[in-house]
Amino acid sequence: MAKRYSKEFLKMLRNEIPIAILICDLLKLENKVSEGYFRFSCPICSGFNTATSQKTNLARCFRCEKNFNPIDMVMEVKRVGFIDAVEYLNEIVSCRSELKKMFAENELEFSLNLFESI
Ligand SMILES: [Zn+2]
Repeated sequence: MAKRYSKEFLKMLRNEIPIAILICDLLKLENKVSEGYFRFSCPICSGFNTATSQKTNLARCFRCEKNFNPIDMVMEVKRVGFIDAVEYLNEIVSCRSELKKMFAENELEFSLNLFESI
């Protein structure tokens, strides 16, 4: 039987890890800052016509016209199903001390580079 996750749990997972940190530090997608905005290489088209929103914690590719939440992003990059993506993120969230360390190192940089409104 497939595991079932509560809505609250999935919502927590989608919001607990900043999307830019997921993209750079965890999934190690190619990324760069262009025109002052953080851009990542889209896992579908490899383009950099992308942005992230701190407010909604979503990443968007303007070329594919697709939004990715952290679960979508893991599924696409790692080519795994929903449950594997959820378990991957859950493991990361469980290692809170690691995450906090990353925050401390990257907070300033990300607050400067993130594209606020998609
Ligand atoms: Zn794309």
